[in-house]
Amino acid sequence: GAPRAASVAAAAQLRRRLESELEDIRGAGTWKSERVIASRQGPHIRLAGGGAGIINFCANNYLGLSSHPEVIRAAVEALEKFGAGLSSVRFICGTQSIHKDLEEKIARFHQREDAILYASCFDANAGIFEALLTPEDAVLSDELNHASIIDGIRLCKANKYRYKHMDMQDLEAKLKEAQKHRLRLVATDGAFSMDGDIAPLREICQLAQKYDALVFIDECHATGFLGPNGRGTDELLGVMDKVTIINSTLGKALGGAAGGYTTGPTPLIDLLRQRSRPYLFSNSLPPAVVGCASKALDLLMESNAIAQSMAAKTQRFRSKMTAAGFTISGKDHPICPVMLGDARLASVMAEDMLNRGIYVIGFSYPVVPKGKARIRVQISAVHSDEDIDRCVEAFTEVGRKHGAL
Ligand code: PLP
Repeated sequence: GAPRAASVAAAAQLRRRLESELEDIRGAGTWKSERVIASRQGPHIRLAGGGAGIINFCANNYLGLSSHPEVIRAAVEALEKFGAGLSSVRFICGTQSIHKDLEEKIARFHQREDAILYASCFDANAGIFEALLTPEDAVLSDELNHASIIDGIRLCKANKYRYKHMDMQDLEAKLKEAQKHRLRLVATDGAFSMDGDIAPLREICQLAQKYDALVFIDECHATGFLGPNGRGTDELLGVMDKVTIINSTLGKALGGAAGGYTTGPTPLIDLLRQRSRPYLFSNSLPPAVVGCASKALDLLMESNAIAQSMAAKTQRFRSKMTAAGFTISGKDHPICPVMLGDARLASVMAEDMLNRGIYVIGFSYPVVPKGKARIRVQISAVHSDEDIDRCVEAFTEVGRKHGAL
């Protein structure tokens, strides 16, 4: 009868609207397509429908642990011993000994009091600000912070200040303005993923001290490999005792499976377990995922050799590319954006690199500012020197061909 006809009409209307919106995305040239990988993640991958032996330079697999044999074995063992998953959130019946062990290990790794696990760092960022800050408080956020920090801040009722990217004068001005609030929290990515630049944490911490503020860092692109022991940006810049809260991911350098966490003072972690919505209302991390991350941390705490080897590979790529005439943004970070300016140039060069067996991705507006198109290269500890040299050679050939050099 009538209700059914109405719902059919509504579904047809929805379909038309969605198709038109998709057409707009294609028309704007911002459509994101996904290449399908038919092998494990690693320095060398096989693409579905052909393409074997492709050298992969666009994963966040900074330490090469995503397919490390010991990490895989730990996942299999955890799967067999603890099952596929908990079918529950943590506070009902979803906490196993491995979750508590991993939280303790994360806190020890970062030299913090305690830690809490989430299904992702996106969730950790979505949960923390609302749980911690009230309308009496203020949050001061770098304008280029990751989308998940921006969304997390949107969800909280604190007073919001946005300072210019890594601009300490602007941060100081905003801190002065924010003195009227009860608590001030400065929030920044430790390392910014589009530019490979590292937040000036020493200066941020000095300002935080001067204006009685707390510092929060998102260490997704730093945990495991920045600093002498891979502890992150705070270790690299000598401010481990001055940063109060760290959020980071288990889905990049630490095994690459999934998961995120907050680490910091015990009462904060206790409060998050009571109040943080993505923690309270989402399933526990699967044992296999916990096993991967736990083994990755063991490997890093045993030795800093993997982190050091990644730093040496990064140095090799950055210096050879600079000598070849390219401009690489950022400093000493395995995210190496090859700056090209023109969006079309970035896209055709990335395509041509793949024809030469090198998988890299071009980024252009609106992901990065207009006129700042680039190809982002990410170095991993498991790239061989030969892989790096082949990448530089391909860039040089392709760059000459398309007039970028
Ligand atoms: N924060 C930053 C800076 C990131 O780059 C990412 C991942 O892209 C996230 C948070 C989200 O991490 P996850 O993949 O664990 O949700």
